[in-house]
Amino acid sequence: MAEKRFVYADNSATTRISDPVLEAMLPWLKEGYGNASSIYRKGREACAAMENARNQVERALGASISKHEGPTEIYFTSGGSEADNWAIKGVAHTLAKKGKKHIVTSVFEHHAVLHTCASLEKEGFEVTYLPVDAMGMIHAEEVEKAIREDTALVSIMYANNEIGTIQPIAEIGAICHRHGVLFHTDAVQAVGNVEIDVKAQNIDLLSLSAHKLHGPKGVGALYCRRGILLPNLIDGGGQERGHRAGTENIAGIVGLGVAIEAACADIPARAARLKVLRDKLIRAFDGFDHTRLNGDPVHRLPGSVNFSFLGVEGESLLLSLDGAGISASSGSACTSGSLDPSHVLLSLGLTHEWAHGSLRLSFSDENTEADADYIIEVLPDIIRRLRAMSPLWERIITE
Ligand SMILES: *Cc1c(COP(=O)(O)O)cnc(C)c1O
Repeated sequence: MAEKRFVYADNSATTRISDPVLEAMLPWLKEGYGNASSIYRKGREACAAMENARNQVERALGASISKHEGPTEIYFTSGGSEADNWAIKGVAHTLAKKGKKHIVTSVFEHHAVLHTCASLEKEGFEVTYLPVDAMGMIHAEEVEKAIREDTALVSIMYANNEIGTIQPIAEIGAICHRHGVLFHTDAVQAVGNVEIDVKAQNIDLLSLSAHKLHGPKGVGALYCRRGILLPNLIDGGGQERGHRAGTENIAGIVGLGVAIEAACADIPARAARLKVLRDKLIRAFDGFDHTRLNGDPVHRLPGSVNFSFLGVEGESLLLSLDGAGISASSGSACTSGSLDPSHVLLSLGLTHEWAHGSLRLSFSDENTEADADYIIEVLPDIIRRLRAMSPLWERIITE
């Protein structure tokens, strides 16, 4: 029996705040409490810290550096959800005035995108939800076929939060630009895991969130290419150059800056280390009884795997893993609590039986090979024990 340890393997849900991020934030929660709009020293210092963080985000994404290259393309938000809402509703409302009321997205986006699109449909917009293939990939040709005269925006996520597949973003962006359509990507799962260059990849708008990259919760950013007119989502004071009201969350913004700089500092080396853990798990369960890997084996996030174990109930699996000290997820954190299997797994064509037995394990650079080894040691016994108690499994093996 393996010695029990604590393994946090749910980094796609959220990450631990790193020590350097916390250290950088603390002064702005204590003595650095000034309002960034105030003209005295405490205000000016807060403002400078915020602009420094903005430069850190700009550099991480390949956006224009504000001040040197002109006004900023980065707007701080309360997180990934707000950035998604703002990008999609903003572009939709602006271009509706020119008669463009059609949006293209995919069936397996995060709910921050899907529910935003549903809300626009209620206002009279039309939305095309592209299917994904059995591997969880979206094909650029499908995007091209869906684009119409009245298409305002294409919104396709960079990397899926449940199954980790990474989409051909530069290719999709090029198609959008060829057709004069704006391109937004929810890159919350991608930033820090894959190298992003918004200019080279034809990205017009991009959403990101700090808490998925060892930053604090409740802060994120929207990249919006210069020249795109976005109406305000939040009206009020003149913060963020009059585009997003509310006294700035300086500590959070500083934390985001430090977190994104660290996350994007050496992506290839960190991804290579993560892939070792991921591929260890993929190999360990390759050929395991009535088990499948969900999502493309190659075009996926370096630290994320998603398996389905037939005859196992995801919730029971999570509780057993928790009992063994392992934090993981079944479907996504936002969908657990609902009885329906996740829309992402169903979009791959999985039956409800397969979808219910899903398990997502997502690593960050804080995980070690010993963590992966421990999971490989305890998970098979848990699966066998749960199956032995399952009437569903009984039926499956006697069929
Ligand atoms: C977590 C997540 C979001 C939401 O970000 P918040 O900062 O929690 O609002 C949006 N999209 C994806 C793909 C995510 O993984």
